Formats: sequence, C-alpha cells, structure tokens
Amino acid sequence: MEFDFIIVGAGSAGCALAGRLSENPNSRVLLLEAGGRDWHPFIHMPAGFAKLIHSDSINWAYETEPQAELDGRRLYWPRGKVLGGSSSINAMCYCRGHRKDYDEWAAAGATGWSFDEVLPYFVKAEDQENGASAYHGTGGPLGVQNLRHTNPLSAVFIEAAQQAGQTLTDDFNGPRQRGFGYYQVTQRDGRRCSSAFAYLRPAAKRANLTVQTHAQATRILLDGSRATGIEYRRGRRSHSVHGGQVILAGGAINSPQLLMLSGIGPAAELRTHGIDVHHDLPGVGKNLQDHLDICTLAHCREPITYDKVSEFASGLRYLFGRKGPASSNIAEAGGFVVSRHATDDRPDIQMHFVPAFLDDHGRNILPGHGMTIHACALRPQSRGELTLQSSDALAAPLLQPNYLEYEYDRRLMLECVRLAREIFSQQAFRPYAGAELYPGVEAQSDEALLRFIRRRAETIYHPVGTCKMGVDPMAVVDPQLNVRGLDALSVVDASIMPALVSGNTNAPAIMIAEKFAAQL
Ligand SMILES: Cc1cc2nc3c(=O)[nH]c(=O)nc-3n(C[C@H](O)[C@H](O)[C@H](O)COP(=O)(O)OP(=O)(O)OC[C@H]3O[C@@H](n4cnc5c(N)ncnc54)[C@H](O)[C@@H]3O)c2cc1C
Repeated sequence: MEFDFIIVGAGSAGCALAGRLSENPNSRVLLLEAGGRDWHPFIHMPAGFAKLIHSDSINWAYETEPQAELDGRRLYWPRGKVLGGSSSINAMCYCRGHRKDYDEWAAAGATGWSFDEVLPYFVKAEDQENGASAYHGTGGPLGVQNLRHTNPLSAVFIEAAQQAGQTLTDDFNGPRQRGFGYYQVTQRDGRRCSSAFAYLRPAAKRANLTVQTHAQATRILLDGSRATGIEYRRGRRSHSVHGGQVILAGGAINSPQLLMLSGIGPAAELRTHGIDVHHDLPGVGKNLQDHLDICTLAHCREPITYDKVSEFASGLRYLFGRKGPASSNIAEAGGFVVSRHATDDRPDIQMHFVPAFLDDHGRNILPGHGMTIHACALRPQSRGELTLQSSDALAAPLLQPNYLEYEYDRRLMLECVRLAREIFSQQAFRPYAGAELYPGVEAQSDEALLRFIRRRAETIYHPVGTCKMGVDPMAVVDPQLNVRGLDALSVVDASIMPALVSGNTNAPAIMIAEKFAAQL
C-alpha cells in the first residue's frame, strides 16, 4: 500500500481534501490532477479570468449535445483542468445558496446535511475579511473578501434594482440572502484564492502529500467490492497506484465518467460500450442539473465600462498594489430575487451585473461600450444525464442537460429577461443606458422573448448532481459520501449534490470536502 488516500482531481473539492487530510502527518496522501500547475498569471490576477475562458490548455472546454429547446445548439461548458480545477478559472463570486436548499437535501435522505449541519464547514473553510459572526469564520484557508475595485456602473445597477422595487442586502451569505448588493469574492490581498491557493500552498512542504499533475485517472482498480487503487495516464504511459481509500473529486462531469469507465454505473449502458459491469448503480450520470442563464445587453452612453479599459494601465496598477480594474471579478454586483412564480420566500432568480458587453461567454467581442445583466433560474425542474461516448477513457462523455424541458423553466427564464429590462429602465440608469442590444426592443411578446432565449441562453457553469447523495435507488453515494455497495471508494465534489443550490457552486463544493474530511 503506497498511500492511505488517493484523491482524483485537484479542483475546488480535491484541493480542500488534500489540504485537510494531509494535516495528519501519519496519513500519506496522493493527489492526481489531469491538468498542469497553476502557473498562468491570468489565473491569479482576478480580471484575467475573462481571458482564460478561451483557453483550452487549462480547460476541458466541453460541449453539450444539441439542445432540443435551444434551437438545437450545443452549449459551451468550460471546466478547469489545472491545479485548483474550476476554482482557478471561475468568476470568484462567493455564495453558499439558501438555507432551505440544504434542509431539502436532508429531508430527501441526505441525513446530516441540513443547513445548520453544513454551516460549520462553510465557516471552517472561511477567512472572512469582515470578521467572524454566527455565519462567518476567520482564519480558514479560503480568503473571502470585499472587492478592491468596483466600476461606478455596479453601484448604478444596485440603485436601479432598488428603484425597481427590490430590496438590498449587505451579505448574500448572512441571515437573508434575498436582495441586491456587491458580491464578496474568493480572493486574498487582491489575488484569486483558488482552492489550490487556499489549501495546497500551505501544504506544499508536507512530506506526506504528493501532488502529481498531468496525471489523468482512467480506471478505478477494484478487488471484489473494494477499491484498491487508480490506473492513470501520464503522457503516453499508463501507471497504477494503490491506496487504502480512493476518493473521486473530478467534478460533476468526470467523477461519474470515471465510475462508468470502471464498470460502476447503469449496467445496460455500460454493456453497450463493451465495459464489464462491476457494480450496477443506475444513478451514475443521471440527475444532471445546471443553471441556464440569459444575458440582457444594453449600450452604455458613457465610456466608463470595462469594454475599453487600458490593459497596460490596469496591469501596472495591479502590479503595484493589487488594485484597480484588474483586481475585479467583473461580475461585481448582483442580486437574489423572489419572483412572482416563487412558491415561498426563497429567491428563485439570481442576477450578475457586468459593466461590459458580454456575449457568448466573452468569446464574441462587440464594438463600443455596453452593460450586461445575467439572470438565471435557480432551481430548474429540467433534469439531464451524462453518458459515455465510448469506453475510451480519454474521450469526452456526452452531456445532455435537457435545458428548458419544463414549462416552469421557460416561464422563469422569461421572467429573468423581463426583470433585467425593468432594472435597465430605471431612473438610475437614465444617464447611462443606451439602446438595448439583446433581446432588442422589437422583442416584447412572450413568444418573441422565448425565441431570443432559445437562441442565446448559455450555462452559468454550475453542473451538479451526477453522483447524487441519498438513500433512494438512484443515489450513487450515501450521506457519508461512500459509493453505495462498494468499499473504500467515495465521491466528494459538486456531483454529489442531490439538487442544485440557489447560488454559485464553488463554496458548496469546498464545504462538501471540509465535511467529508472532518468525518474521517
Ligand atoms: C467559467 C466558470 C465560472 C464560474 N464562476 C463561479 C463563481 O463565480 N462562483 C462560484 O461559486 N462558482 C463558480 N463556478 C462554478 C464552480 O467553480 C464549480 O462548481 C466548482 O469549482 C466545482 O468544484 P469541483 O471540485 O466539483 O470540480 P472542479 O473544480 O471542476 O475540479 C475537478 C478537477 O478534477 C480534475 N480531473 C477531472 N477528471 C480527472 C481525471 N480523470 N484524472 C485526474 N484529474 C481529473 C479536473 O482537471 C479538475 O481540476 C464557475 C465555473 C466556471 C467553469
């Protein structure tokens, strides 16, 4: 036995796990990561993430299957492939979701995961700039800070939301999530605080932690019902390594894929690819959920957006003091709305305001100055699945999120556009908001707006649920995150969420790792 723990995937959850498990000097921990080291300067300079979205050297750059309800389009799904995983390329908004999300997990069979039971692990992870409280912690590895620089339009957006009848909140992660305000960000001293930065750097000198990059796990080694190790590829060579416990932290796409490649999953599906069935587990890859997002874009009359910022000047400002636009996460302000479709007081729409044009994930650069309101439905009903394309471990799986399959989801997306328009039309925006670019004034009816949504909606990057935790027949892991029916094999990442949380998913993925590590 070479290691006590083998962790597959150095993302949000994997780095947190490696950091925590290696705190015990008697535990020998191996962390395998398919991507490379996080040397790229744009990872660490916050605004640099806008450039990373294009890069496929640190990004799996997946595409979904054609979406029937989105004009047959394939949607682009970036995921981090580098130390820190998606926490190295994300927008850094620090959000946990709503108390009721976790209470519902617990009520559905995830015993031990109610909000009051997960809160201590959010707090443990956190180093909150505004100090400790019942909801926040200080001294943890994950820097959670106020933005060092905000664009004046972000304040205008918040004011306009209030004029549109929305309330304000000074903490999306405090007692009341509902309302508008600035996001806090996962940063430390103006630098991105990825999970690698938070958890791996302090652990770098530990002799009991081995981090292997460019190592892509291709199969879980099993002896009967016990996981005994991992087979992985490094360059052209295949290696195997053995350990006491195997922990998958490859994220919502790769963890279920690796289970299936190893003969753990829906038996009939595995057989169609010629994979020997080791353990029939029908829920693997099912229950795929994501936040679909729609952007409303308006021209800005004043040349104050981030569209034309001097990269040289802001680079210099950042270099000498880590301040200025380069320290911004761009999506500085936002809000949680209880729409007219909500059935209780829990927000069902989230907004991110971008003081710049944002089209096609920033891949399509538009001329001039503009502003964008992102809006997404927080708890869609549509459920998709992830299946194998083939038994080739290096081939991408097939991603079928089934966006907008339900009328409820379509109604919520319509509400997203209408609310965004309402905010842009307020007094506060009068000096700034020029003509609406998307959807465009001619689109007024539900039919026209739905056509626009079908043409332009994109992911806001929160796929979860494909190895769901629970006790029903479709559950993949039990509430201790052990793969049901097998020994010494766990899944610890965003894939175990039984249902999407009402917010961004990085902090919850880290919380999941903190909670798992604490139980060992
Ligand atoms: C562009 C973008 C913007 C986002 N913005 C935000 C935001 O502002 N706030 C927020 O809270 N969330 C945001 N998210 C979502 C959030 O970052 C993710 O939900 C979270 O990072 C998921 O964590 P994870 O540990 O499940 O997976 P990941 O962090 O994706 O980690 C998985 C890791 O496993 C590695 N891996 C996969 N397969 C293998 C294998 N076979 N062998 C070895 N290694 C493997 C991957 O390379 C990766 O490093 C964003 C995501 C993206 C992509």
